[in-house]
Amino acid sequence: IPVVVHIIHNGESVGVGGNISDDQILSQIDVLNEDFRRLNADASTTPAVFQPVASDIDIEFVFAKRDPEGLPTYGINRVNGGRSTWFLVDNYDLKTLSNWPSEDYMNIWVASLGDDFLGYAQFPISDIGGLETASNSAITDGIVVDAFAFGSVDKYPPANLDPRYNLGRTTTHEVGHYLGLRHIWGDGGCGADDFCADTPASSSANEGALGDCTFPGPSRCGSDDMFQNYIDFSNDVCMNLFTEDQKTRIRTVMD
Ligand code: ZN
Ligand code: CA
Repeated sequence: IPVVVHIIHNGESVGVGGNISDDQILSQIDVLNEDFRRLNADASTTPAVFQPVASDIDIEFVFAKRDPEGLPTYGINRVNGGRSTWFLVDNYDLKTLSNWPSEDYMNIWVASLGDDFLGYAQFPISDIGGLETASNSAITDGIVVDAFAFGSVDKYPPANLDPRYNLGRTTTHEVGHYLGLRHIWGDGGCGADDFCADTPASSSANEGALGDCTFPGPSRCGSDDMFQNYIDFSNDVCMNLFTEDQKTRIRTVMD
């Protein structure tokens, strides 16, 4: 999937504040390619009970090599957005600052986000369950990630990232949504579905209190929560898998 990364900064020099460096951006795309191919170094820490369903999604991401006019590019586009913080209600204004056709590129916008959000995504249009609210707006198609959760300190140690979200898994999570995945707790109680049989039911996100990621952790609906799934809210260090049923959703959307 060709990717364009729009860095929406506030006039800082490259490498300062929200105008993150090229190396930090590269570290994030490397994480995406590892996580979606199950080449992540921490794949071995997936609990044994979940190893049989852990999946190589078999999708890779490359920086765009041609811009919409056909001119050479390296897939990173820096724009001064003229403000320090962006909120969910600014979705359209943020994305119309810089936008490449969503038929040809996956648009990633990186900005300093308010609202206590690490990022958000637009669902794809498909008739599989759980995507009924997908938008048909091409211009807003893509993902938005906070500049302080974009990149990996493992691959680029100088990155200034929130210590809970410093391994690039926010972007893995948002791209999962962009390709059709729902939160594994189904955004509801034990009966709410993420439309994947191989992700155990849960009744809420796992967020903040997982400490050293010791398994088993919470068991909210009669089986151990799969808090290692990228589509939970766990700290980055605890995340390490997609499942086979999640792959089926993504491949169906892509087809
Ligand atoms: Zn989410
Ligand atoms: Ca499930």
